[in-house]
Amino acid sequence: MAIWNLGSINVDTVFSLPHMPSPGETLSSTARNVFLGGKGTNMSVAAARAAAIVHHIGAVGDDGEWTVDRLMEYGVDTRFIARVDEDTAQAMIMVDPKGENIVILHPGANVAIPQAILQEAMAEAQTGDWLLIQNETNLQRTAATLGKQMGLQVAYAAAPFDADRVKAVLPYLNLLFLNAVEAAQLEQATGKRPQDLGVRDVIITLGGDGADWFGPEGHRHFDAVPVTPVDTTGAGDTFTGYVLAGLDRGHPMAQAINLATRAAALMVTRHGTADVIPDLKELEDFRP
Ligand code: ATP
Repeated sequence: MAIWNLGSINVDTVFSLPHMPSPGETLSSTARNVFLGGKGTNMSVAAARAAAIVHHIGAVGDDGEWTVDRLMEYGVDTRFIARVDEDTAQAMIMVDPKGENIVILHPGANVAIPQAILQEAMAEAQTGDWLLIQNETNLQRTAATLGKQMGLQVAYAAAPFDADRVKAVLPYLNLLFLNAVEAAQLEQATGKRPQDLGVRDVIITLGGDGADWFGPEGHRHFDAVPVTPVDTTGAGDTFTGYVLAGLDRGHPMAQAINLATRAAALMVTRHGTADVIPDLKELEDFRP
């Protein structure tokens, strides 16, 4: 079994600033760091670190070759990452000494993924594999339709939230991931609770309060693992990648969520995103 992840690939550039700039101001940064980022990337790395076979479907520009190399080093299959005539997606993140941030996102190649590369990937997928999608790329609905037709199980993380995009893929989903804010937004957009929208499994993550799973046998709550968080960026993506990897290995949902909860807890004790997502060995040694 395998996971096919139609996912974003971002270059995250973090500028540390003495204060947030005002309009018209020129400000020197005190530090500049470049990281591999994007929700899709984080999910691929998390699932690979959880020992799943992960095929990433995406796109980068000429400036993104290093991101593909990095994904490959993390054990992700990169054959279905297209090279397109656009810039690789970039997030410019400004952080002030209080930890407040401003993010400017340039979607670039993430929204120029050619349909042909998706089709090439799907031609290799097997019935029962997982297709994972989120909202930082183009082609979600095409992928969900194609995946469903081919007998794949379709999982969707509804982030960044967009009501129309969620509604467009809902009929094709087996598994829906939402955080608490997205769950409320979806309820407002549809007039129904997310667990009443006809998706077999719905998981609502609640940050430090854990997660709720609504499945065929009803509702179950999972407490978070108590830790002292230093940076919660990427917790949701780590959680999603680990849940899918567990399901892909044939584990029951509760077991997959338990491991994902431990992985996400360890993740929030670390600064950074894709580069610091824990692997299975680190989770074995994790004594919160
Ligand atoms: P992000 O957008 O920051 O990646 P998210 O909003 O999608 O995250 P959250 O609900 O914040 O997702 O977190 C996902 C999971 O991570 C939670 O269900 C929980 O298991 C774990 N987690 C998040 N914050 C904490 C915390 N403070 N302590 C322990 N575990 C946490």
